[in-house]
Amino acid sequence: MRALLVEDDVALAAALADALARAAIMVDHATSIEEARVRLSTNAYAAMILDRGLPDGDGLVFLRNMRQAGKGLPTVVLTARGEVQARIDGLDAGADDYMTKPFSPDELLARMRAILRRNGTYQGREVTCANLMFDVDNLALRIEGQTVALSAREAGLLGLLLRRDGQVVTKRLAEDQLFGPNDLLGSNAIEVYVHRLRQKLESAGSRAEIVTIRGVGYLIKARQ
Ligand code: CA
Repeated sequence: MRALLVEDDVALAAALADALARAAIMVDHATSIEEARVRLSTNAYAAMILDRGLPDGDGLVFLRNMRQAGKGLPTVVLTARGEVQARIDGLDAGADDYMTKPFSPDELLARMRAILRRNGTYQGREVTCANLMFDVDNLALRIEGQTVALSAREAGLLGLLLRRDGQVVTKRLAEDQLFGPNDLLGSNAIEVYVHRLRQKLESAGSRAEIVTIRGVGYLIKARQ
């Protein structure tokens, strides 16, 4: 899943992007309202994290305009202003949640999950395929009750395949969801992760398999 982070504090943005990446939420980073506008017009995001104090204006004004234009993108507003009135203003402007700096990245993550769940984008639930059970919230895989350790990207890829429920995940979509714009991406990066995931599934006795649809992408299904 991909989120847009609009924050002019580059160090904070990097720390948040790292924390979100560990939960398989890839982040595109914009440092101004203008940059955010451009990114929103060219990419599809599941959520936005929006700072208020931006070099070219108040993030809240930007959000209010977006809401008036009918855009319902789930949004957490970040602010250094912690007064009750600022919080009310944020929620009035159409924020789904509001966080006062400083906060822990884990708390942001928890709130993101909550708003995505409310919006039906992020279903806190377990998805299954054959004898494989994957907890989408915690990125935890169990096969026949045994936990299988996965890296964040392996888990992201598996979640993507399972959520498509037997439909093909194109290589392009997988790259988009698993890597950020600053990741150096070899042409076979997805193949590498598919290979590792297949090995882990196989050695754990999975009865679900990842099938290659040549020239298109991958899907997961119960082994015949
Ligand atoms: Ca700021």
